[in-house]
Amino acid sequence: MGTFGRLGGIAAIALLAASGVVAFATIAPTPDGAIEPPKRPIIEALEIRPDTAPAPKSYFREELYQRGDTLPAFVERLGIEGPHAARLAKLRVMQQLRPGTHVSAEVSADGEPIVLSFLSGRETLVRIAAEANGFFRVTDDKAQLYTRVAMKSGVVQSSLFAAADEAGVPDSIAMQLGDVFAGDIDFHRDLRKGDQFAVVYELHYLGGRPVRAGRLLAAEFTNNRKTFRAVHFSNGYYTPDGKNLRKAFMRSPLEFSRVSSGFGMRRHPIARAWMKHQGIDYAAPTGTRVRAVGDGIVEHAGMKGGYGNVVIIRHNGQYATVYAHLSRVTVRRGARVAQNDTIGAVGQTGWATGPHLHYEFRVGGQARNPFSIAMPAANPVAQQDLPAFRNHAAPLIARLDLIANSALAQLE
Ligand SMILES: [Zn+2]
Repeated sequence: MGTFGRLGGIAAIALLAASGVVAFATIAPTPDGAIEPPKRPIIEALEIRPDTAPAPKSYFREELYQRGDTLPAFVERLGIEGPHAARLAKLRVMQQLRPGTHVSAEVSADGEPIVLSFLSGRETLVRIAAEANGFFRVTDDKAQLYTRVAMKSGVVQSSLFAAADEAGVPDSIAMQLGDVFAGDIDFHRDLRKGDQFAVVYELHYLGGRPVRAGRLLAAEFTNNRKTFRAVHFSNGYYTPDGKNLRKAFMRSPLEFSRVSSGFGMRRHPIARAWMKHQGIDYAAPTGTRVRAVGDGIVEHAGMKGGYGNVVIIRHNGQYATVYAHLSRVTVRRGARVAQNDTIGAVGQTGWATGPHLHYEFRVGGQARNPFSIAMPAANPVAQQDLPAFRNHAAPLIARLDLIANSALAQLE
């Protein structure tokens, strides 16, 4: 899959160059000139004999700061010896380290730090240089990031996150993919083995290495043989013909996340007896975030018989949604909520045999199957913006086509 992704990238560049399509304005030019090899060969006499080659005085190391890491242990993992590691870990600037950050270090042969650097959450390059007196000099400069467009595709075997991992798609892009199609696909109930996705996204580089993913620019998701496509434009996502992908209601009250996505393939037996049950049960661990599927006003928040802790939201028109058995309720009666706002967490209060979310979608007071109701969408691209949208979307759609064709070629 990794090789395929790279080949796909090369092919895409060739295709885009051939068709005269240029990258759009949001992509910064890449400083390729800076990494070009020198024009003239450089020849130097080497006089080092292998048996007398000195050991290097210092070496470079890079480590990923991970969730659960303690600063002293992490610094030691960079090859920095105990007392130095303890002093470094006490620096205030080190508290800026967030899980998922790569830290580079130059360390002397006897374990003394020389220079550490990492990218802060504010897009600055933090540099910590050791000084002769045992102090550290900290600089924090605007990082010279540059952006390239990455393309990846994958096939769902067990969960969407597993497929994203397999394809080398960053978590933040997988999450954006889940958000973009949240109005069309319930990633907890609808996901099928064999579903496919393709993503085109920004990848920010620093010093030749990818450091962070940016926005999802375009995406395709084939769910149960039905294909959805999305293109980022202005401040939203649209189908290639300009329809808004944002719907008045999201398909699922649970967001697509690493914690909950493992339940995607599981069909709750109760879901099949829908008419009798009047709702949908989502099996998910206690504490999983529950979100409002649409804008509305909280009509009820608290205990209510067999529902346990329940939130009821009244939406525009005749719609209401019900979220039951919550372990925690984080909204109050009368509060205004927006789509995707957190309203509580999954639990098993009331008549529940295990942690799950009981969800109802009511129309005119009657529980209905939300999957049988056509959800109204937000506004499409305005008529006067359509030419600009088409110009912007064309190269992105070309990339999606290219990924789709490459994936087909792989299957044959
Ligand atoms: Zn239920």
